[in-house]
Amino acid sequence: MKRIIILGCTGSIGRSTLDIIRSEPGYKVAGLTAHTSSKALYALGREFPDAALLLSGDDEKLLLEMIRQTDADIVVNGITGAAGLLPSVAALESGKDLALANKETMVLAGPLVNRIATLNGKRILPVDSEHSALFMLLAGRDPETVEELILTASGGAFRDLPADRLSLVTKEEALKHPNWSMGPKITIDSATMANKGLEVIEACRLFDLPQERIKVLIHPQSYVHSLIRTTDQALYAQLSLPDMKLPIRNALTWPDMRPEPSCRLELAGKALTFTEPDPLKYPMLPLARKAMALGGTGPVVYNAANEVAVDSFIKGHIRFTDIARIVSERLYKCRPSSCDTLEEVLATDGTCRTETLETIRRLS
Ligand code: MG
Repeated sequence: MKRIIILGCTGSIGRSTLDIIRSEPGYKVAGLTAHTSSKALYALGREFPDAALLLSGDDEKLLLEMIRQTDADIVVNGITGAAGLLPSVAALESGKDLALANKETMVLAGPLVNRIATLNGKRILPVDSEHSALFMLLAGRDPETVEELILTASGGAFRDLPADRLSLVTKEEALKHPNWSMGPKITIDSATMANKGLEVIEACRLFDLPQERIKVLIHPQSYVHSLIRTTDQALYAQLSLPDMKLPIRNALTWPDMRPEPSCRLELAGKALTFTEPDPLKYPMLPLARKAMALGGTGPVVYNAANEVAVDSFIKGHIRFTDIARIVSERLYKCRPSSCDTLEEVLATDGTCRTETLETIRRLS
């Protein structure tokens, strides 16, 4: 029986995880946390009466305490944004494996979190679909034989819109993702491709490769989730329906695999296409590479500025194209410092949020 804590249990990842637990044997819900969705959380409390429940609100201390105190084998981290970092650390430090859907954990503090996992003898199992695919493709392979990783991207809500029309798009239009059903922040990040920028950084940290060896291709059909190129120039791809249940299940069962007939992808009659992303249309992608090149706290700045800018866009304070302008300004002004401790990471995150809000106030 695998005991599972789900952080962000009322969000998209949390709900998919619960669907798996309800329909398959061998799992026990040990703990459930939600940020503000009290009604949904209490309903789940009635359904899983043995689980520890926490409505965390903004009380991070309580959340970390709950993760540490609850007996479990694995923590599914489905929290959105930088708020997911310390819960990831608490999970690993209290001897639990980490099924990681919160990409910010690796973006903000990848090297540090990897060290914490190693020190505690615990595993980080990627739940991001691209990274789950890469994890499966790389398993058991000699790293020396891998030339590059290729992440695919859907291109988001404005894939077919000319770049010069982007400044006029609305929040409602940006929230219409063509292939995946996800939370609002990540859907906007898909439209700007900041999501892919974060994923390039995440892949560098998960698989210990420099960003030059991580490529991105737009693949509108979202059947190929990632590819690897080996040094003999063979390409290996992972294909499946765009459904988060597969990467979640892979993380929960690893190193085992369970038969799952219901999400079978048939390829007959399907066309698969790939194009290079246009850096002028998707500036958040080259900006992520710039953040990695800056090193140190560069990725922390990229993420914090983006989170604040996306929040302002959702609230109607700025235009869609302002998101990249704001992140670019913050990156060009930042002096990256080292980030060897969680304190340094969190301090940079906080400062950058304040500065980004000031930039936005000037703009609007
Ligand atoms: Mg992804």
